[in-house]
Amino acid sequence: MEIKRIKKLNENTIRQIAAGEVVQRPTSALKELLENSLDAGSTQIKIHLKKGGMKLLRVIDNGCGIKVEDLPILCERFTTSKLRSFSDLQSVSTFGFRGEALSSISFVSHLTVITQPRGSQLAYRAHFKDGKLLKPRSQQNGQSQEEASVVPIAGIPGTQIEIGDLFYNQPSRLRSFKKTSEETNRILNVVRCYSINNPQVAFVVTQNEKALPLFKNKKTNQFGNSLKRIAEIYSLDVKKCLFKLQINTLINNSFRLKLEGYISNLNYCKEEKEAHSKMPHFILFINKRLVQNYQMKTQIMKVYKERVKTKGKPFMFFNLILPPECVDVNVHPTKKEVKFLHEAFVIDTIVKNIQKLFSNGLEKDKQNQEN
Ligand code: ADP
Ligand code: MG
Repeated sequence: MEIKRIKKLNENTIRQIAAGEVVQRPTSALKELLENSLDAGSTQIKIHLKKGGMKLLRVIDNGCGIKVEDLPILCERFTTSKLRSFSDLQSVSTFGFRGEALSSISFVSHLTVITQPRGSQLAYRAHFKDGKLLKPRSQQNGQSQEEASVVPIAGIPGTQIEIGDLFYNQPSRLRSFKKTSEETNRILNVVRCYSINNPQVAFVVTQNEKALPLFKNKKTNQFGNSLKRIAEIYSLDVKKCLFKLQINTLINNSFRLKLEGYISNLNYCKEEKEAHSKMPHFILFINKRLVQNYQMKTQIMKVYKERVKTKGKPFMFFNLILPPECVDVNVHPTKKEVKFLHEAFVIDTIVKNIQKLFSNGLEKDKQNQEN
């Protein structure tokens, strides 16, 4: 066999490969945009889709906006307003921190940003490609003329980020997304999870200008709390099905664990209906990030399995707050998984609290039956 020479890939190819890791599908792009909007202090977030986000994914927020002077470097790699040095990573309280999302998105889509920063009378529009601000050309009298790359326009305060033709330059990735409905459902599920953990924020999702059902009752969208939103989204009689879980304790005598959440009781599992099984069952936020933790899920499932013999899946929503310095957010390109110190202790504490809730709940049931 002929030995091939080793050559360095060109910069654009390297960036496209890396971008494909951060942005795996429309949902991962959406998650980044949602987190940016929340980081910007938005109280209203609107999401518009075409073809499940593949043709168009537009997020409009009413957050602080982006300074016009920063637009030229917005999509360069590692440009961020949230982190200044590596040591800041220890205490990062925003979702974003490495300035990689918008840059990656610009390598795999047509990206347009419109932003009206707080205090400005005007909005500004800019297009980006491969990490760089594009210079749009306009046609005048049949001649191509270069325009300013950032165009002032009339707008409203906040930011609109538009991702067009996601993966237009990655045909094999593009082919792997056949079902629009699957991508739409994934997006709706992510928005629902964020809406539960951010009940002060109003969320709206539309596809082809038509509103998609995020909540059953539209009023709850505006002024909800986590519990109301869970009830609306999952059609749950929350009083009948859910326990409130609240933990505030010192772990290992060294750091504080705070958790607020809701878990389904044992009756819920026994009565599980068809509709429940389609929903995500374990919603975990650690320091405001939607993450997965397989270990925690398995340990908690054990508690249920010991008590319920049916196959019903429980519902859990946890908002876990740990000291930022104990959480390493930098372990996964999509920030989907996080590592934290004393993981076994943290999980053990949560499991014990759930066991206690169940014993208390059973006691109550017994008393009710006796009365
Ligand atoms: P990161 O969030 O890690 O900083 P991003 O690439 O997601 O990196 O965003 C780069 C920067 O762009 C952010 O640090 C922030 O200053 C700005 N930005 C992005 N989206 C928004 C938004 N919706 N509102 C205000 N600022 C934003
Ligand atoms: Mg970000």
